[in-house]
Amino acid sequence: MFDLERLLRDNIRQLVPYSSARDDFKGDARVFLDANENSLGSPLTRWYNRYPDPHQWKVKEALGKVKGIKPEHIFLGNGSDECIDLLYRAFCVPGKDNVIINPPTYGMYEVSAHISDVEVRRAVLLDDFQLDLVHLERLVDEHTKIIWICSPNNPTANSINRQDIEVVLNNFSGLVVIDEAYINFSRYRSFIQELADYPNLVVLQTMSKAWGLAGLRLGMAFASEGIIDIYNKVKPPYNINQATQELALKALEEVGQVNEMIKALVTMRGELARDLASLPFVLTVYPSDANFLLVKTTDAHSVYDYLLGDGIVVRDRSKVELCAGCLRITVGTAKENADLIDALRTYRA
Ligand SMILES: *Cc1c(COP(=O)(O)O)cnc(C)c1O
Repeated sequence: MFDLERLLRDNIRQLVPYSSARDDFKGDARVFLDANENSLGSPLTRWYNRYPDPHQWKVKEALGKVKGIKPEHIFLGNGSDECIDLLYRAFCVPGKDNVIINPPTYGMYEVSAHISDVEVRRAVLLDDFQLDLVHLERLVDEHTKIIWICSPNNPTANSINRQDIEVVLNNFSGLVVIDEAYINFSRYRSFIQELADYPNLVVLQTMSKAWGLAGLRLGMAFASEGIIDIYNKVKPPYNINQATQELALKALEEVGQVNEMIKALVTMRGELARDLASLPFVLTVYPSDANFLLVKTTDAHSVYDYLLGDGIVVRDRSKVELCAGCLRITVGTAKENADLIDALRTYRA
């Protein structure tokens, strides 16, 4: 039912990818005079005068060990945003194909589609922030290439029911992308161990959230070797720079420290939720599987402006489907959370 070759754009099927100096010669040599680098060095360390490994094998091996997955099933992008964008470029014919999103959700699926002139169809989530499978199915036609599912979802903070995701995976013959940017904060397990069962599955994760490395720009896609080959065919040759590769490798040695941070953030998330719920103008604090809370208030604009006046920035999501009155608040440090609650205790509607 799933046919990767058929799903691809014709131009990508026929594409002869760029072959870099590092692709043409992979072995060890005494002298490298094949890439027009500066042989004398650089103002920084000597290391940076050389092009980085275009396939980031060291990072993928370390990451593969942490995630329990083979390096051949990993693609690394300049943030998840690149992992998202490349799927449009490889699979979606501008002005002809379409994709489906489940709003309210992460904005980049739609922006990236518009950049590529790809139609976006919207199956708005149900009132409990779960998939509307009936609507979703009605939106699919022969030009539907991708269904985007964000779980835990941004901005609603909940996880999408696993059985519902499995229904989509089993019945849709295009790509199903599950964006797990917040999976480390969730009670539920990742879909990356299910890749063998679903040839149409792409799982996205990122170093930007739980790993605390938003500044590095390192996103990951996990998928079948066939899909990873396509990613590699269309990506810019050196999309992950040397500094990012080195720093990511270092960070991946510190899984223990990251797990401690995750534990601390989850604990503080619970405390923050309780404190927010006690405020008179807070109507609902939605359950969260992420490192943020979606909070329904009596007047999101007014609370937002009040906080901003006190130097505290949160995200106003009140204009988004199903999120009237809602603010999205990231779990901060203990001090930041206390400052937020202190400020809100003196808010008067
Ligand atoms: C933050 C976030 C990302 C991360 O994007 P990067 O480009 O990797 O920083 C991806 N997806 C969702 C839903 C997010 O909220």
